[in-house]
Order: sequence, then structure tokens, then C-alpha cells
Amino acid sequence: MRKMFNSAIVESFKAKETPFYYYDLSLLKETLNECKTAADQYHFHVHFALKSNFNDKVLNIIKSKGYGADCVSGGEINKAIEIGFKKEQIVFAGVGKSDAEINFALDQDIFSFNVESIQELEVINELAAAKGKIASVAIRINPNVDAHTHHYITTGLDENKFGINTWDLPAVSETLKACKNLSFLGIHFHVGSQITDMNVFKSLCIKVNEMQLWFEERGMPVKVLNVGGGLGVDYYHPDENSIPDFDSYFKIFNDFLEVKPHQEVHFELGRALVAQCSSLISKVLYIKNGIKKNFAIIDAGMTELMRPALYQAYHKIENLSKAEGLGLTVEGSLNHTPHTSNLFYDVVGPICESSDCFGKEVNLPETKRGDLIALRTAGAYGEVMASAYNLRSAIRHVYSEG
Ligand SMILES: *Cc1c(COP(=O)(O)O)cnc(C)c1O
Repeated sequence: MRKMFNSAIVESFKAKETPFYYYDLSLLKETLNECKTAADQYHFHVHFALKSNFNDKVLNIIKSKGYGADCVSGGEINKAIEIGFKKEQIVFAGVGKSDAEINFALDQDIFSFNVESIQELEVINELAAAKGKIASVAIRINPNVDAHTHHYITTGLDENKFGINTWDLPAVSETLKACKNLSFLGIHFHVGSQITDMNVFKSLCIKVNEMQLWFEERGMPVKVLNVGGGLGVDYYHPDENSIPDFDSYFKIFNDFLEVKPHQEVHFELGRALVAQCSSLISKVLYIKNGIKKNFAIIDAGMTELMRPALYQAYHKIENLSKAEGLGLTVEGSLNHTPHTSNLFYDVVGPICESSDCFGKEVNLPETKRGDLIALRTAGAYGEVMASAYNLRSAIRHVYSEG
């Protein structure tokens, strides 16, 4: 158990303009250290998926811990370089890389393009030739492994747009042999996000073993096995499980992947590294009591945290102004127990969309205008998806000790 809030932190929030993202930077550092220690045991390399969080402070800490960068756009590559990630630790994935993005990545001499179609291979080859460069490429293979996660965040099935399907691999090897400005580095996979069933990763390992054999049998040595990211976090118990079980996660790959002495194993974690270290803090604007339900209308909306509206994602909601919500004892409560009773609220934002709802029938202590509300586990795919819809103000931040 590692509590994100105490009464001093909540007190410090009272004078601040809401909504804002609160970052617990010591939790971030602990998480990064645990992941690094677990990965180092097996000499695994971990890249951070910038798309889950590109906050400068967060990225600086991640870089300082020796992580690489997994980018999905030219903008992310540019950001990674600005922050100071090493070029030889930057990989570029994405199903629709534009010519301008490919050219930029070639100019930056990044470590690898994770290529998602045969046509993309041909385009990278052509653009590299024009610059007199050799591009290192890994082939993103769609392994048809079901991640057993929400269908919007499943990426490794035949029906998904990502990666190259296995029946196209003979054409891939032909193309690679014909393209003189490409150097084949290895194979890449990413089957989905928020994966909590470890059997999914076992199935992935078995596919990776099959696929690397396929290439090696055709005289194409596989130097890098990139197994992507996707490790999930506990959205229901953020304080009880504030750091994912990295030991068990990496052990699966150590146990089930057939790694040869000349090979490197690469990971691309996003959510598992940053989700728990941030909460979106908001204030209750109004309480509307309906006949069947109450509404708590808060000052954060889908414009600050889109996951619930986008894929019905769950975020734990806490009322920080009520000690019961914090799991704290109320000052002076030795003599009297608080009498507030819990009620059910639909917690909604101010945006003019019915999908702007953070939770239905959420059980909270009796909630009032001005109460501080925390939407937990918001560090991944939170502020990166913020929008100006309804002409909302830019995201604000508050950081715990640096
Ligand atoms: C999004 C993404 C990741 C990170 O996924 P998480 O679930 O956040 O770990 C890794 N690799 C690729 C190619 C991605 O698109």
C-alpha cells in the first residue's frame, strides 16, 4: 500500500486552480527503478512509449534512468531528441508514416523503423537511397494473438490494421532482399494495451520464436526481438497496486522466448511506467439531485481525460475533501465519528456531450460544491489526449517534490 494523498497534500491543493494533473514524481521514479532492475537481470532493453505521456518533466526523468524512446510520429521523434534521448535508442513505429516523417527520422539516424507494410518498406528504401543512407528496419508482424483487452486497444489480430500478416512474409523477405538501402534488424510485435492476463505474453513468445525461425531459415539473421508493450495496471486499486509486477512480466519472456547469444530483446512500455503516478484533480462545481440519481458536475471533462468517453475506461474516483474518501482519520474525529453517509453519483464533466461522464453510480461520501475530486491512474493516455474542444484552457500541472 502506497497512498498518493495525505491531508497535507490535499490542503496544498485548495489554493490551486483546478482542474490539474498531479504528478507524484517519487512514485514515477520508484516505478522506473523497479522496471529497470527487473529488466536488467535479463539484459532486456526498455523503450518508453511517448504516446502514453509526453510531459517534459516526466520524459526528463525517464531519460535520466536510461530508457530508450518508442515514437509513433515525427513530432514524437523530435520531442525525444529535444529531451535528450539517444538517437540509437529511438525506434519509430506507426501504420501511417508520412514521407516527411520518414525523411526526418532518416536525417536523425534513429535506431530502427518498425515497418508495418510492404509498400512502406519500398518507400523507406527509396527515401533512404535519395539520401545515400541505409535505414535499419524491423518488421512489425501481426501475430494474431488475442490480447483479451478492450477491442479498441487490441492490435494484434488479423482484423486489425497494425503490422504485416504472416501470409505476406514471403513477399517481405523478397522485398528486403531487393531493397539495397534497407538493413534488416529484426522483428517487432505489439499485441495490445492494458493486458493483465500473462498468458497473452506466453502466446506472444511462442509466436516470436516461430517467426524468428522463419527468417533465420531464409538466411536473414534476426538481431532484435522487439516484443512491444501492453503490460496493464490496476485501475481499481491504485494505492494497493501502485507499481506493476515487472518481475513476473519479464520472467515470462525470459522463460518462454528463445533468445540466441547474438540477439537483443526490446520492450516498449507506456502505460505500466506512467499510469499510476498521476491523478487528475478537479473541483465539484454543482450537485444536482435527481429523482433516481444525483449528479456531481466537476470542472474536469473529457477534454482533460478522454479515456472514459473514448473507450468506457474505468478510473477510480475519490472525494479528497472527505477523510473517508482518503482513508484518513478526520482531525478531531477521536471524539465523534463522521456522520456523512455514502451516496451514489454520476460524476460528469462540463463538456456539451453526454459521453462526458467519468463514472455512473459512483459510491462517494456525501459530496458538496467545492469538494476536491481525484480521478486516479490518469498518467497514461491522459493529458496526451487533451483537446481544446469547447475552447477549454490548456492543461495545468502540479508536481510533488522534484
Ligand atoms: C502504444 C504502443 C506501445 C505502448 O503500449 P502500452 O500499452 O502503453 O505499454 C508500444 N508499442 C507500440 C508500437 C505502440 O503503438
